[in-house]
Amino acid sequence: MIKVVKFGGSSLASAEQFAKVGNIIRADKERKFVVPSAPGKRNSKDTKVTDMLYACYALVEQEEDFKVQLNKIKDRYDSIINGLHLKMSLEEEFRKIAADFKEKAGIDYAASRGEYLNGLIMANYLGFEFVDPAETIFFDEKGEFLAEKTNEVLSKRLAEVECAVIPGFYGVGPDGRIKTFSRGGSDITGSIVAKAVRASAYENWTDVSGFLVADPRIVENPRPIKTITYKELRELSYMGASVLHEEAVFPVRRAGIPINIRNTNAPEDVGTWIVESTCHQPEFTITGIAGKKGFVSVNIEKDRMNTEVGFGRKVLSAFEDYGISFEHVPSGIDTMTVFVHQPEFEGKEQSVISAIHRYAQPDSVELEADLALIAVVGRGMKSTRGTAGRIFSALAHANVNVKMIDQGSSELNIIIGVCNDDFEKAIKAIYDIFVMTRL
Ligand code: ASP
Repeated sequence: MIKVVKFGGSSLASAEQFAKVGNIIRADKERKFVVPSAPGKRNSKDTKVTDMLYACYALVEQEEDFKVQLNKIKDRYDSIINGLHLKMSLEEEFRKIAADFKEKAGIDYAASRGEYLNGLIMANYLGFEFVDPAETIFFDEKGEFLAEKTNEVLSKRLAEVECAVIPGFYGVGPDGRIKTFSRGGSDITGSIVAKAVRASAYENWTDVSGFLVADPRIVENPRPIKTITYKELRELSYMGASVLHEEAVFPVRRAGIPINIRNTNAPEDVGTWIVESTCHQPEFTITGIAGKKGFVSVNIEKDRMNTEVGFGRKVLSAFEDYGISFEHVPSGIDTMTVFVHQPEFEGKEQSVISAIHRYAQPDSVELEADLALIAVVGRGMKSTRGTAGRIFSALAHANVNVKMIDQGSSELNIIIGVCNDDFEKAIKAIYDIFVMTRL
């Protein structure tokens, strides 16, 4: 059995963190393929190496001297190398990077060096082979990831080695230039590697013990989620629960490989398992709660709306014309409401309203701003009666006025709209009713 282990930036921010990672890898012979991020923050005031690289390359583009900034980055790596007592030097690598910067090798190349150099250190520290994504992970000319070609080349390359380190976050374009995924993209690399070696599990090591039922900034000490399905995860991540890059699920999901989120600072914790499907009932009726502030509801009224074929399409095309995506569209007999992101909508509101009038001739269009949406997600809701009832009685007791309710047809989630000001209170009330009192 093979496990692919990806370590995030905070797990590799210093020599001490590297040592913890080394222990984790050595504790299990199945952990054969390692995907490191660049060194992250050592404390809350620190700067990630990736951000230092972006800043350094900005100097290159402004034709300013970048040596001081590049040396600070080198110091970060040297302190890891020295702290681990490794017999290696990145002197030559940094000389090449400086020369490539002068040649304007590109912002993606610059950012990717964070993972590249950390990968070299990791390979040396573990005695594993170094496999460069510049030769094994491919993008097309539009910058889209090439899944098939990558899988073919990468699986062949990794079949030749017993154990390897493959840096996260980047690959190569058809022009031979380095290309990165979006921020946090080492999660995606881990998933791609797991698929290429047909791993039995993709362990994603970070600084939290998995997903939590609610945001710890809102609920004190929320309970961890032991098992979550890919679908539930999608709903929660979309609503702001961020532990894993959204795109990281696709390669492993199709290959039926589960993801295990683990904590480098608490390796004994079991973390969260992300799976395709499971017969394990969740501990509580709900799996998780997440939400976002900053929505506007556009409330449209028209007498006899229900009989007018095509009314919804006309209204939505007004939003489409201005490039605004909608979140939810609850409707009544003579009313239709469209929820949109406030920052996206604000500057275009009058144009959209006049387009709605032009296309659909409604009786009135009214706006309500500063709303929040909360998603209560759980595969357990399908087989449980009264979930919605419990949510709304908890909210009523907490004095929260519910502005909108939307239950997805999958019965996997219930979306609730409340005022921004009630957001935290609402999440606490829902958490309490399902987790604390287990009603
Ligand atoms: N180092 C990159 C970032 O900070 C990628 C990653 O860590 O996943 O976004």
